[in-house]
Amino acid sequence: MQIFLDYLHNSGLDLVNNWRAILEVFILALGLYSIFALMKGTRGDGILKGLGLVVIGLVLVMFLIARMLELNSIVWILEKLIAMEFIMLVIIFQPELRRIFFNIGQSPLFQKYIPSQYPIIEEIVRAVHSLSSKKTGVLIAIERTTSLKTYIEGGTSIDAEVTPALICTIAYNGTPLHDGAIIIQNDRLTAAGCLLPLSTNPEIGKNLGTRHRAAVGLTEESDAIVVVVSEETGKISVSVRGHLTQGLNKDSLRKILIDLGGQAEGESDE
Ligand code: ATP
Ligand code: MG
Repeated sequence: MQIFLDYLHNSGLDLVNNWRAILEVFILALGLYSIFALMKGTRGDGILKGLGLVVIGLVLVMFLIARMLELNSIVWILEKLIAMEFIMLVIIFQPELRRIFFNIGQSPLFQKYIPSQYPIIEEIVRAVHSLSSKKTGVLIAIERTTSLKTYIEGGTSIDAEVTPALICTIAYNGTPLHDGAIIIQNDRLTAAGCLLPLSTNPEIGKNLGTRHRAAVGLTEESDAIVVVVSEETGKISVSVRGHLTQGLNKDSLRKILIDLGGQAEGESDE
C-alpha cells in the first residue's frame, strides 16, 4: 500500500494531499447528477441535451483557444472542466447508452442465452385483440425513455402485472377507470384513467376523435408507443413519434411492437 502511495506521490498524484480535489470533483459530480436527474423525464429533456452539447462544445473551443494563446491558468481550469464533461455526457446520454447496451443484448450472439425478451407484448396483443372484437375502446401508452410521470399524476395509480384480464377490465365500458389512458412502465401497468395531451395536427382525419388525437398528442411530446382500439369501429391503431398507423390486426400489431425494439418490455430511464 505504502509503495503504491509513494508511487502516486512521485508521479504527482498525491491522494492524501489531494483529498480536497477529489472531494470537490465528487461534490460537483453529485450536484450535476442531481440537477440532471431532476430534469430528466420532463419535456425539458430534449432541450437539456442540446444545451449540454453546446456547453461541452464551448468549453472545448475555449480550451483550444486558451492553449494556443498559452493562457495557462485558464487551460488548467478548462482541463478540469473537460474531465467533468465526461461525467456530464454519461449522465445526459444515459438513455441512449442504455439503448446501445440494450441493442447489444438483442444481438443474435446474446439472444441465445437470454429467454424471451417480450413478455408483455403478448399480453397487450391478446388484450387489444379481444377488445377490438368486442368494439370496446382503449388507449394504452407504453413508456420508453421519456418519463410519463406527468400524465400518471392526473390518473389513478395502480402498479399491477400486465394481463389481458386487467386491461379488459379497465377498458370495460361503465367502469370508473375506463375513461382515459392506461399507462405501462417497466413491464407494470402503473396507472389508468390518465389524461393525455391532444394533438393539434390538422392532418389527422376529421373522422378521428379525441381518443386518437390523444394517442398522437402523447407521441408528439414523448417517445412512448400508444396503442388504440376504436370504440366505434373496433379498429386497432398504433401511434409513434406523432404518426398513427391504422387498421392493424393481431399479427401486424405484434410485429410493430417487436420492431420498435422490444422496448415495451420496459426500457425506461427511471
Ligand atoms: P373512438 O373511435 O373509440 O370513438 P375517437 O377517436 O372517436 O375514438 P372519442 O369518441 O372522442 O374518440 O373517444 C372518447 C374517449 O376517448 C373518451 O371516452 C376517453 O376515454 C378517451 N379520451 C378522449 N380524450 C382523451 C385524452 N385527452 N386522454 C385520454 N383519453 C382520452
Ligand atoms: Mg368517437
